[in-house]
Amino acid sequence: MVTAVTGQDAGTQATGVREAAVWRALRTVPDPEIPVVDIVELGIVRSVIVDDTGVAVTLTPTFAACPALRVIQDDVAAAVAALGEEVRVTTSLHPPWSSDDMSDEAREKLRRFGIAPSDRHGGLIQIALDAPVRCPRCEHPDTTVRNAFGSTLCREIRTCRSCGETFERFKPI
Ligand SMILES: [Zn+2]
Repeated sequence: MVTAVTGQDAGTQATGVREAAVWRALRTVPDPEIPVVDIVELGIVRSVIVDDTGVAVTLTPTFAACPALRVIQDDVAAAVAALGEEVRVTTSLHPPWSSDDMSDEAREKLRRFGIAPSDRHGGLIQIALDAPVRCPRCEHPDTTVRNAFGSTLCREIRTCRSCGETFERFKPI
C-alpha cells in the first residue's frame, strides 16, 4: 500500500518534471513573424499534456489562417522531440486566440521591436479598437491607420502624426 502510493507520487513527480521540460523547450520556439517573442509568451500554447504515451501540445494560432502556423507546428515538434519525447501537435481554434493572451513581457518586447501591442480589453473588443494607439517610438497617441494590413494579417500599418514614424500595430482581437 505504502509502496503503491510512493510509486504513484514518484510517477506524478516525473510527469511534472517532464512537463516543465516541455514548457522550457516551448519557450525556445520563436514566433516566425516576430522572432523576439516566443510562442509561450505570445499565448498560443493552449495546453501541454504529458502521459505514458508521450506529449500532446495544443496550439491556437493568432489568426485561423495564420500562414506561420505550419512553421510553428514543425518547430514545436522538433523542440519537444529533442527531449526524447514522442510528440503530437494539434491545433484548436476554439476558443479563439485573443490579443489578451499575450503576456506583459511579450507586449514590452513588441514595443521595443517597434510594433505597437494592443491594450488588454477583457473581451470588450470595441474599447480596444477605439482606444488611442501610441507610437512605439515617441509614445504620442495621435496615430492613424495607413494600411489595414501590415506584413501579416494580424497587423496594420500606422503613421505617427507627431514624429512621422510609420509602424505596425498588433490588432486587438
Ligand atoms: Zn511618434
